[in-house]
Amino acid sequence: MTIKQLSAGDHITSKCTKCKDITNHTIVAMVGDKVARVECNICGGIHNYRSVFTKTTTIKSRASSSKPAKTSRVEKEWRNLVNETDSADATPYNIQMTITNGDLIQHPSFGLGRVINTIKPNKMEVVFNTGTKLLRCSIK
Ligand SMILES: [Zn+2]
Repeated sequence: MTIKQLSAGDHITSKCTKCKDITNHTIVAMVGDKVARVECNICGGIHNYRSVFTKTTTIKSRASSSKPAKTSRVEKEWRNLVNETDSADATPYNIQMTITNGDLIQHPSFGLGRVINTIKPNKMEVVFNTGTKLLRCSIK
């Protein structure tokens, strides 16, 4: 077992109810070898330590709004869709290319992307690691 011994004054990641996010905290109090109270480095609030190792799947529920997504989430989505080892199978992008939903394309400026939607007559939505772009194409 290699559990790092923590003590008051150490930094730890915890869920902050005020920030409604996982933020950096400083340990305020320990009970035995367990972290009891922490101070949020963002809002300064002191609260009981909440482990972040329960489930991290709660973060993706806000993605439906149209405002620009955070880079990390975009990149995560892109990594789910695009396997960089598949780049050999990607089709180089040009505006006359014939595309099917799910195709992998290689764009000269945006890089590797996965077609997630086709819009007739000549548009497609492609997820790149910088975000989703609407590109010209021709649709089968
Ligand atoms: Zn906070």
